[in-house]
Amino acid sequence: MRRRMFLVLGAAPLFVARAARAQSDADPSSWSRKPALRVLLGSGAATAVGGDLFTFAGRPYRGTFTRLDDGRIVNLVDLEEYLYSVVSREMSARWPIAALEVQSICARTYVLQRSDPRREYDLIPSELDQRYDGVAGETPGGTAAVDATTGQVLKYGDAFATIAYSSCCGGHTEASSDAWGAAPIPYLEGVVCTWCSASPNYRWSTALPLEQIAGRLSTYLGPIGTLQDLRVTQRDPSGRARGFELVGDGGSAVVSGAVFRRAVGSRVLPSLLIERLERDGGAGQVSVDGGGLGHGVGLCQWGARGMALAGRQPAEILPSYFPGAVLAHL
Ligand SMILES: [Zn+2]
Repeated sequence: MRRRMFLVLGAAPLFVARAARAQSDADPSSWSRKPALRVLLGSGAATAVGGDLFTFAGRPYRGTFTRLDDGRIVNLVDLEEYLYSVVSREMSARWPIAALEVQSICARTYVLQRSDPRREYDLIPSELDQRYDGVAGETPGGTAAVDATTGQVLKYGDAFATIAYSSCCGGHTEASSDAWGAAPIPYLEGVVCTWCSASPNYRWSTALPLEQIAGRLSTYLGPIGTLQDLRVTQRDPSGRARGFELVGDGGSAVVSGAVFRRAVGSRVLPSLLIERLERDGGAGQVSVDGGGLGHGVGLCQWGARGMALAGRQPAEILPSYFPGAVLAHL
């Protein structure tokens, strides 16, 4: 997750069952009895197969569907049934049940905080929101975790908490305001995490070819010539790089950490928690040592796994990563 749109705190409206300006392909009475979540699946063939299932692009989905004016298909699905698929896509179903329960609560809260009936749909099924593959994404472990936490959410005051999560924080989570430049959120200020060292990305090393970086950041390089070196200019309190200086043969330019990682690629640079960055002699590259995978804001998923393996329950795990937010029931 990655990667997630960030919205200001506020009481989320309940879902509306009927998508405005949407043309229903199914019996509306089948989905108007209870609130439905609207997930944009995209363009493709959708066919009802009976029961509470249909297929989209040949894959089975729960609920029903409707078609937007532009032809795209929106899945109308019960929130809990949507979560069956999301939890096992966002976290390994082989992980301890308490970690999967934490993921369920986070995914549920994310949806409720974000839902806005004024839009044509609530979510897209990718990591830009949450990964969702319909029935094909479901596993017994993920389903059990969702069922065990039915109706449980994270709140701050009367509002649903703003949720973010990523794979591994590398030892310190990131403040939302440092990651995205938005106003600080009290329970997303960044905390020490001592639980994620089992992640294969807890510490990593990589090499970035200068030519490749120059190609990705060419708009910044015009005035400074050929890229010769790279430096971290500033770090935020979590240790993540706030800025990079691009050193050219005719001058230098500074880009923000977020711009740099987006341009270079989040798979090329696993995180901005960079411990060492050095020019490699004549190799035409910089070698980088760092920690963590993802933006680091909010829940550290590998940290939740570590706490769950130590016997901690969601009521203990969630406040560790969202201090001040409270586990509540709908
Ligand atoms: Zn962590």
